[in-house]
This record gives sequence, structure tokens and C-alpha cells, in this order.
Amino acid sequence: MKCRVCREPAVIDLRRHNANFCTDHFLRHCRQQVERVIKDFDMVRTDHRILVAVSGGKDSLALWDLLNELGYQVDGLYIGLGIDQYSDSSYRFVQEFVEQRSLHLIVVDLAETHGFGVSTASATTRRVPCSACGLSKRHVFDKAAVDGGYDAVVTGHNLDDEAAVLYGNVLRWQVGYLGRQRPVLEARAGFPRKVKPLIRLTERETAAYCVLRGIEYQVEECPMADGNRHLGFKEALNRLEEQSPGSKAEFYFGYLKRAIDRFEEPDDRDQLGPCSACGAPTDADVCAFCRLVLQATGTSISDRRPVALVSKPDIPASTGGPGSGHE
Ligand code: SF4
Ligand code: ZN
Repeated sequence: MKCRVCREPAVIDLRRHNANFCTDHFLRHCRQQVERVIKDFDMVRTDHRILVAVSGGKDSLALWDLLNELGYQVDGLYIGLGIDQYSDSSYRFVQEFVEQRSLHLIVVDLAETHGFGVSTASATTRRVPCSACGLSKRHVFDKAAVDGGYDAVVTGHNLDDEAAVLYGNVLRWQVGYLGRQRPVLEARAGFPRKVKPLIRLTERETAAYCVLRGIEYQVEECPMADGNRHLGFKEALNRLEEQSPGSKAEFYFGYLKRAIDRFEEPDDRDQLGPCSACGAPTDADVCAFCRLVLQATGTSISDRRPVALVSKPDIPASTGGPGSGHE
């Protein structure tokens, strides 16, 4: 097996590209895929302040490393979810990554800031863990990005993730979700700009990227993931991909190219006002996250106070302020 570019021994075969690569050319391939997505979808610029959501897993650490390599200014946000030892060991991988590279990391611990963790919240509220977890992560990321004046939040969703979500949304014809499944979601009042630069790389590629770059990451699956239906969708798509390499990419990118404009992105701006407990945008009096906190902690709304997660840094005029550059 020889590298397609230099004919030296290859370390990985990528069947959907009909190519094998040596270490250097595989790493270059990953950088090129990310650069291409950023350019095609006009995601971020090098003068933007970017916040990456890091979990300690391969995708988010590979993404942070790739964006650094490509010259972007990226801070990290880690959320302590309170999922027993899994959260502790995930945090150690993030810490190690950050220390080796002297990067800036913001840490928000759910138990310290809001008095609950995902394990306890799901037990006391009888919610599916992933639902309590997803709601908490979205709320904390949005707040940290808006409070910190970041131009964009980047997340490590890869091609397998996006194809699986699309598959699930198509199976149930969830037209609202289909309209929002875009690689870029523009900023709206109270919500930051969100972009997904890893959509041209698969899980296997981000794992190989980490191994070849010497990045240690959380290999264990989250113990709460059982019953997460996206895992089933991923398995189904993996079987298709095995028989017909390139199917996932054709499915997802074909959707973005040929079908997404048939589904309107829901516009709820007129229905949103500030949550009476935390100030986050919501279409109810109290936002879904605050309702979760109240239920999980057994407290009442009068005990709930806005939490400042990130203080706003001084932003020099030359780099642009919050919301700049993406009108
Ligand atoms: Fe959260 Fe579910 Fe992911 Fe675990 S699997 S980190 S509970 S969303
Ligand atoms: Zn709220």
C-alpha cells in the first residue's frame, strides 16, 4: 500500500477517496478538507475570535488542533457534565492537550455553577440522559460564546454525525430540523454563530489524525449513551458505506447541494423574549434549561440568578467586536 502522493509506504486507506496516504500526506489531507469546508461555507476568518466546544474526545481535540495549524485564534470551552468517572477522565485529556500547547480553556462545571450533573438530573427528572445533557450543553455554549463576545462557536460534528442526524430526520420527516441542519447557523439575538468545520472528515479519519499527531483522547463511550438512537443510525450507515464507499458523503453533501433549500429554516425570532430567570432567549416565560435546573435541584424560581460564565475580554478594534464579520 503506497501513498497516492509520494509513493512512500501508506499508513491509512480511504476507500471513499480511492486513496492511501502516508502520515504527512494524510495530515495534509485533513487540513485541506477543513480548509475547503471553511471556504465553501464561508465559516470563519483568521481575525475572528472562535470558541471550540471540547469534550476530550477525538473530534473536538482534532478540530482544535487543525484550526490552530491553519492559523485561527481559538479558545476552548469544556463543560463538566457530572457523568461520574467519565467526566473526570475526559477533563484530563483536555487539560493535557491545553497544557502542551499553552491554549486558553474556559471550564464550566455544571455542579458548581448550577448545582446538578447530568447523572443526577436524568435520575431526578426522569429525562433521557442525552436530552438533559444536550439541553445543558447548548445553553452553556451559547451563553459562554455570547458573554465572551466570540464571533463563532465551532463544534466537532463529523461526516458520520451529520449523516446519521440527517438519516434520522429524513426517516421521521422532521422538516423543522431538516431546515436547520446546516453547516453554518447565523447568529441571532442571544445565540452565537455556530459552524461545523469537520463535516468532510469521518470518525475514522479524526481518530487517525489524533493518533498520528500524538493527541491522547477519551476512547471510552459515554456510559449514558445506551439507547442513543443516533448510534443505531450510524451503524446502519456504516453497513451501507462498507458495501458502497462514499455513500455517506453523497447522502449528506447531496442533501446540502440539492435539497436543503426546500426546507425553510424556522424563524422564531418574533416569538423569543428573555427568560425571566436567566435572561437567555426563550419562547416561554422560563427557558427549558432553567426549568431543568429547577426540577433537578428542587429549587424555586426565586432562587435562580443569572450566572456570568465568561467575562467579556477587551477586544481591540482591529479584530472586530461581537457579531462582526458575519452579517
Ligand atoms: Fe451527553 Fe448523551 Fe453524549 Fe453522554 S452520550 S455526553 S449523556 S449527549
Ligand atoms: Zn433561563
